[in-house]
Amino acid sequence: MSDKLILVLNCGSSSVKGAVLDSTNGDVLLSCLAEKLNLPDARIIFKVNGEKHTVSLAEKPNHTGAVEALMAELEARKLDKRIGAVGHRVVHGGERFKESCLIDDEVIKGIEECIMLAPLHNPAHLLGIRAAMSIFSHVPHAVVFDTAFHQSMPEHAYTYAVPRELYRKYGLRRYGAHGTSYRFVAAEAARLLGRSEEGLRLVIAHLGNGASIAASNSGKCRDTSMGLTPLEGLVMGTRSGDIDANVFPFLHNNAGLNIEQITDLLHKQSGLLGISELSNDCREIEEAAGKGHEGAKLALEVFAYRLAKYVASMSVAAGGLDALVFTGGIGENSDTIRSKTIGYLGFLGLTVDEKANLAARFGEGGIISQAGSTPLAMVIPTNEELMIAQDTAHLAGIE
Ligand code: ADP
Repeated sequence: MSDKLILVLNCGSSSVKGAVLDSTNGDVLLSCLAEKLNLPDARIIFKVNGEKHTVSLAEKPNHTGAVEALMAELEARKLDKRIGAVGHRVVHGGERFKESCLIDDEVIKGIEECIMLAPLHNPAHLLGIRAAMSIFSHVPHAVVFDTAFHQSMPEHAYTYAVPRELYRKYGLRRYGAHGTSYRFVAAEAARLLGRSEEGLRLVIAHLGNGASIAASNSGKCRDTSMGLTPLEGLVMGTRSGDIDANVFPFLHNNAGLNIEQITDLLHKQSGLLGISELSNDCREIEEAAGKGHEGAKLALEVFAYRLAKYVASMSVAAGGLDALVFTGGIGENSDTIRSKTIGYLGFLGLTVDEKANLAARFGEGGIISQAGSTPLAMVIPTNEELMIAQDTAHLAGIE
């Protein structure tokens, strides 16, 4: 146990998620969620030892108000003096940030320069970083980028087959997402298998509301399914994933939709929601499918089939496959999706032990393939906060 704690912050445009962690053992001493920022009913909900309480942010309903309320809560619980550093999650670090780093003026400038690549996220992160740096001014602050893990992708994996000039002028290439989760899970997989990351070939599926998959070899990313933006790749809760780009002229000409409407349709009305015509929530869809709902059954099948196709192609990128790892809300909890996906992949040697598959739900994790079969199939609960806390502690010299 360390006597210095790490505050991890994840700031969105209308929310601030926070957690106070012991980076040596992952214990969470306090977590909070400020929501509805910039609205009259802005509030922050604290969770300590399983108990929740809410504080209104009506007087200062912005990021600064949220971080001030967090500081007041830490003071009241005598935790403020134990915070040794603050770690910030940042969605996009472009090509500039290949690893986590301590924040200085140059780093802030770099995050600003990546706004073009993450116009909704990076400005919100900067609001949070500025508020936190002024309120927790006595400790170092670090940033951990969701794109950093993917910076080891080879050029042939991140290059789109479009005029090269677009990459040079606008940085149009594949960047990926969920990198903090992949880094954590890749290291955990090696630890659980009792081997070094060196030479280990993994395909990791991070399946949450947003879903992506990545290939790693020796702990380095070789390819991933999300591209310039998080729209590409797998079927997601409300996002289409891969689709013919000509859907834009097609819907414009035939349905009279404009760019904004088609973009909204692909981001917010597609995926599991679009196919099932029911919900974006995998749990609800599984329940409905169990009762025979045709849309729900099709949604699960399209999700699993697309995922299986990607597992096969990511095995090419990883240079082979030692283990397929499932993580994220769906990956960790849905034995149905895991079983269906592996069902398409028998030709690679993948198998599922249904008893182990059921036992792996709800945070248990573990190997779910049949004894003696290779490649392995595994479930590993992700822990992005812990990864951010560990990077931050390391950069701040707290260990
Ligand atoms: P986010 O990307 O928002 O962090 P999560 O990783 O929390 O999302 O994943 C949310 C998804 O996990 C939802 O689709 C939810 O239905 C699914 N999920 C959670 N528990 C289960 C479960 N027991 N069975 C199937 N799906 C589940």
